[in-house]
Amino acid sequence: MEEAKVVEAKDGTISVATAFSGYQEAIQDKDHEFVTKAVEEAYKGVDNGDGGPFGAVVVRNNEVVVSCHNMVLKHTDPTAHAEVTAIREACKKLNQIELSDCEIYTSCEPCPMCFGAIHLSRIKRLVYGAKAEAAIAIGFDDFIADALRGTGFYQKASMEIKMADGNGAIAAEQVFEKTKAKFQMY
Ligand SMILES: [Zn+2]
Repeated sequence: MEEAKVVEAKDGTISVATAFSGYQEAIQDKDHEFVTKAVEEAYKGVDNGDGGPFGAVVVRNNEVVVSCHNMVLKHTDPTAHAEVTAIREACKKLNQIELSDCEIYTSCEPCPMCFGAIHLSRIKRLVYGAKAEAAIAIGFDDFIADALRGTGFYQKASMEIKMADGNGAIAAEQVFEKTKAKFQMY
């Protein structure tokens, strides 16, 4: 059904673009759009007082399935990271326990727990904004310090992992600087 409206539908961009040399640019645009959305979620979570400055967006067929942020404070749950929350919500919404047809976009490089959850959900592709060091730099050190090792391990998994570049990455790194006053307690 998507094929019929591929020209006008935004989610048809990639399908059309594969036939042309602009394919990589189209992927970049798409990645930028969804990483930016994850970054917006990170700010939203802080503004609401729900948790730390982290956002995650699950996408299927270039459409947002769910857009979530860290809910650790709101749920009094140390496992309610943005990625875990997004995976739970996406599975519920799609009524399936595998997200192999989905991609996840995160504002920051996921911690080992979230890498594990992404791996278990069989998400096929991960794009993250800020490097873990950006979070560590403002004091999110305890739980995320192993994230780099985590990345190295899961790069061997069957998912594509990409760090966003350009403005998306810059905006993602800025999340921590702009919200750090509220998270000195961590
Ligand atoms: Zn996490």
